[in-house]
Amino acid sequence: MNRLHNFSAGPGALPLSVLEEARDEMLSFGTAGASVMEISHRSPEFTAVLEAAKQHLRDLLGLTDEWHVLFLQGGASLQFYQTALNFLGDGQTADYVNTGAWASKAIKEAKRCGNVNVAASSEEDAFSYIPPVDTWKLSDNPAYVHFTSNNTIYGTEFRTDPKVNAPLVCDASSDFLSRPIDLSGYGLIYAGAQKNIGPAGATVVLVRDSFLQTARKGVPTMLDYSVHAAKLFNTPPVFAIYMVEKVLRWLKDLGGLGSMQRRNETKASMLYSQIDSSGFYRGTVQPESRSLMNVTFRLPSEELDARFISEAKSQGLVALKGYRTVGGIRASIYNACEPDSVRALADFMAEFERVNG
Ligand code: PMP
Repeated sequence: MNRLHNFSAGPGALPLSVLEEARDEMLSFGTAGASVMEISHRSPEFTAVLEAAKQHLRDLLGLTDEWHVLFLQGGASLQFYQTALNFLGDGQTADYVNTGAWASKAIKEAKRCGNVNVAASSEEDAFSYIPPVDTWKLSDNPAYVHFTSNNTIYGTEFRTDPKVNAPLVCDASSDFLSRPIDLSGYGLIYAGAQKNIGPAGATVVLVRDSFLQTARKGVPTMLDYSVHAAKLFNTPPVFAIYMVEKVLRWLKDLGGLGSMQRRNETKASMLYSQIDSSGFYRGTVQPESRSLMNVTFRLPSEELDARFISEAKSQGLVALKGYRTVGGIRASIYNACEPDSVRALADFMAEFERVNG
């Protein structure tokens, strides 16, 4: 077996123990006499998986009965449109915070549905910071306020939950379950599974019932959150949910979100302290907005960026190239990226600087 130190931005690394468990169950799952991919999504065996996955989310986040837990398809990209289609009614305005490429895409889709007010943006400074909440120019009575909790491409992250006078709608795709959150201000949270909680194919949506009651009626059936909240409407992404259930169990066994936050802070500080202690590496974002999930930096030249990436690869440290439109280096260190991998990268950075600095 040759598993490398994987810093992929998504789909990202999965816990080894989860992959091993899935491998062992691949041909025959429990008493089903078939793999989990070959049985009805309404069978007792799969129903137990689905209910367990929902319960783990409730336990990890402390979700009360006022929250619906949905596993949808179409990725976070469909959520950009689906949230607006359901919650941005005629004559209403929704406020958006533009902190990067994904936030911009969310804004583009929302404009198809109604009025959008961009309440704050860091675009003028290459999305290098999170605009502080007290600078946001919110509209009078927005239907909701949308933000992106972690900006996968640029490497910035909200470290606290914003407080505003309207329901928060959050794209949490790239830091979901990486830390505890204060749910009190939220109406809806969505996240593609493939970074922190499982493989691609499932999108988690958490929606508060009182917010759901404000949704527009009569939207197309598959895009109507109420339909999915009421019952298991169609075949869900069974294999992805099965894997998510295992990842959530792994997360609970590690001690839950508080422990995960400490582990993530420790990992991120190994890399940021390497950047801060050197005149060689240059972080690309303002320190107070730094992401614990995607650490972005540059070397003194593009040539050195390229050499860093290729030498790292030859030492088993892979997927470090920055996003194609941004360049530089990006180390994605989601929940399942092991501290040992991050230590190996920090050591490599020190050695690369010694030789090339
Ligand atoms: N939002 C964020 C923050 C992301 O990082 C991504 C994917 N990298 C998306 C949305 C789009 O997700 P998907 O590919 O699941 O549609």
